[in-house]
Amino acid sequence: MKSEIIAVGTELLLGQVVNTNATFLSEQLADLGIDVYYQTVVGDNPDRLESLLQLAETRSDLIILCGGLGPTEDDLTKEVTAKHLGEELIQNTEGYKKLLAFFETTKRKMTENNLQQSQIIDGGIALPNRTGLALGTFYQTADHVYLLLPGPPSELKPMFIEQARPLLEQNFPSEEMLISKVLRFYGIGESQLVTELKDLIETQINPTIAPYAKPNEVTLRLTVKTKDKHAGNQALLVLEEKVLARVGEYFYGYGDDNSLPKVVVELLKERNQTITAAESLTAGAFQSALGEISGVSQVFPGGFITYSLETKAEFLHIDDALLKQHGTVSQECAEQMAIQARNLAKTDYAISFTGVAGPDTLEGQPAGTVWIAVATSEGEVISQKYQFTRDRSHIRNSAVMQGFDLIRRQLLRKNKCEYLFGFFLLFVIKNDMISTMKCRTDL
Ligand code: ATP
Repeated sequence: MKSEIIAVGTELLLGQVVNTNATFLSEQLADLGIDVYYQTVVGDNPDRLESLLQLAETRSDLIILCGGLGPTEDDLTKEVTAKHLGEELIQNTEGYKKLLAFFETTKRKMTENNLQQSQIIDGGIALPNRTGLALGTFYQTADHVYLLLPGPPSELKPMFIEQARPLLEQNFPSEEMLISKVLRFYGIGESQLVTELKDLIETQINPTIAPYAKPNEVTLRLTVKTKDKHAGNQALLVLEEKVLARVGEYFYGYGDDNSLPKVVVELLKERNQTITAAESLTAGAFQSALGEISGVSQVFPGGFITYSLETKAEFLHIDDALLKQHGTVSQECAEQMAIQARNLAKTDYAISFTGVAGPDTLEGQPAGTVWIAVATSEGEVISQKYQFTRDRSHIRNSAVMQGFDLIRRQLLRKNKCEYLFGFFLLFVIKNDMISTMKCRTDL
């Protein structure tokens, strides 16, 4: 089964909106074992959309259109596709009732054009829109299937998963499926990662390995095509083990929507521990990244932004003389910031950032010089100097991500230590039991 995705909307061509629907749909189709051969974007223009439909029919079995189902002038996908298929648009009773109920509840006046939203192509199956008003359509001819979906991802995703996907599975059962696994790495560049895995990448057939570089991290997507889910997962596991045996040191988590801040928050939650931060050059960016993670209030009570020497002294109660003696871009300053932040916020961990965001030098140190320190409730303080490159924004971002990685490693190190200590305790208890048993036999 060959498919193609047509995203309709001039805003996509103008670069105002990123075509994330195509990414989502491609992943979903791969999962269903349906090949995607083309992805196209077309503006809100009936003639160009019509010629694209004609072309799509020559090369694809399943044609998915997204966007342009709304009530406005430029929403013409349904109209153009119906005309192309020689069908009329008809009102769908359920959709119409929902439309009326919406306008009644919101006390808004329903205009004529809103009726378009509850129309579907005659002969097609209506796809209810749980999170919006515009209905989708599933329309099948002898040779082709047309799937019309709304543009907003918040409407398209549930409609595809809940309505369209079961129809596709039912009508086109696939023998093969694609299973993917995403591995995320921090602290290694794409070229180094590819070099380390060169032979695995060069000889890949099934599963495949696809590296992808993002700012401050690299991901690897492992994909297997299989008829047997269990065998496919096993093949991915074997490949993953080979990959991690070489670059596991940099691996921090799985999944498309994972991130270093998320992993850190999860680790803190698991351990029932808390964190605070004292930030100079990052000016709250670390704390803002924490704030992006839902449920973070469990582990993060708040923190400090101390940009100047004066606020470092005043907010964090750091000795003025120490700051003047060593400067703010110094190990001493970073460590004091972390220690004092932890004391004041009464958390298990505190992290501090101080350095030169650039472009100018500061205290005789070049742009990109950054000290990061971590203080723990056991009185341990670790600090590290980094030299980041590129522009101000990249330097600040790199510092934040490096901070998250430092904390993650610290938390994992603790886990390892506790595990070893537990093992040691077990060993002592076991030996003790053995000696007690021996005593009893002696008796
Ligand atoms: P509406 O009822 O909101 O008008 P619609 O089905 O007519 O929905 P469009 O008008 O084409 O959809 O797009 C509405 C919004 O959905 C766009 O402004 C954009 O924010 C988002 N959108 C549209 N197409 C895509 C796409 N391919 N990828 C991501 N977002 C999209």
